[in-house]
Amino acid sequence: MTADTPVGDSSPYSELVSSKAGAKRARTAAQRGVETRTGLVRRARRMDRSLQTAFPHVYCELDFTNPLELSVATILSAQCTDVRVNLTTPALFRRYRTAEDYAGADRTELEEMIRSTGFYRNKANSIMGLGQALVERFDGEVPNNLSDLVSLPGFGRKTANVVLGNAFGVPGITVDTHFGRLAARWKWTDETDPVKIEHAVGELIERKNWTDLSHRVIFHGRRVCHSRKPACGVCVLAADCPSYGLGPVEKAEAAKLVKGPETDHLLALAGM
Ligand code: SF4
Repeated sequence: MTADTPVGDSSPYSELVSSKAGAKRARTAAQRGVETRTGLVRRARRMDRSLQTAFPHVYCELDFTNPLELSVATILSAQCTDVRVNLTTPALFRRYRTAEDYAGADRTELEEMIRSTGFYRNKANSIMGLGQALVERFDGEVPNNLSDLVSLPGFGRKTANVVLGNAFGVPGITVDTHFGRLAARWKWTDETDPVKIEHAVGELIERKNWTDLSHRVIFHGRRVCHSRKPACGVCVLAADCPSYGLGPVEKAEAAKLVKGPETDHLLALAGM
């Protein structure tokens, strides 16, 4: 796909091109602080659609096969990369298969198995506490609702939403550092508290899209919209983003900043 693909074409790229003029007007309104509520909702949903084009295949980057494994992996992912967690969990999940196994774990052995993920003493406490709470209060099963999940050791709202969305298919918005940073950069909300960001974005985006949006925003934050030097010149959201220009806008320079397995696809969308 090239930058001069005909606008009449019905491909996802041409839809992006044809919506750019309206998007830029919305971007200007957001930059000036005069965007209407309707304008904001439309802009946010257009950005969600652009992210769907950029990242058509979304997935949880933590490896798991059931809610208990995802719960443990999510606890381990605090202050740790998903890649590191995925290197740690295969042996862990072979050794501990049930909530009872974690509840009765040998602490020294468990700590050793998760040591490489950092903060391993706290994480071992959380995981053993999780196993005990599941055995005592939930017949050894991970519950499938927010209020029960947030009552579990090691579970904040973010962890609960990850498990709800990815293990149970219940829509949820996961506000991690990337999500919070990008929501502010896009002027989706002025809130800084994660729970308030979650509610504010939930009012902009259709509920059925919440889980996938969370993945896509996090993907975009990791691959394109970096904290220090975002790749604005090749960003699929450029027309709608009030922070466009925060990073290099020259395509060749911006292209070097894009990371991850979708790089070729993202650069093709930018006409490269
Ligand atoms: S890369 Fe630039 S244009 Fe794209 S979302 Fe981030 S700040 Fe906005």
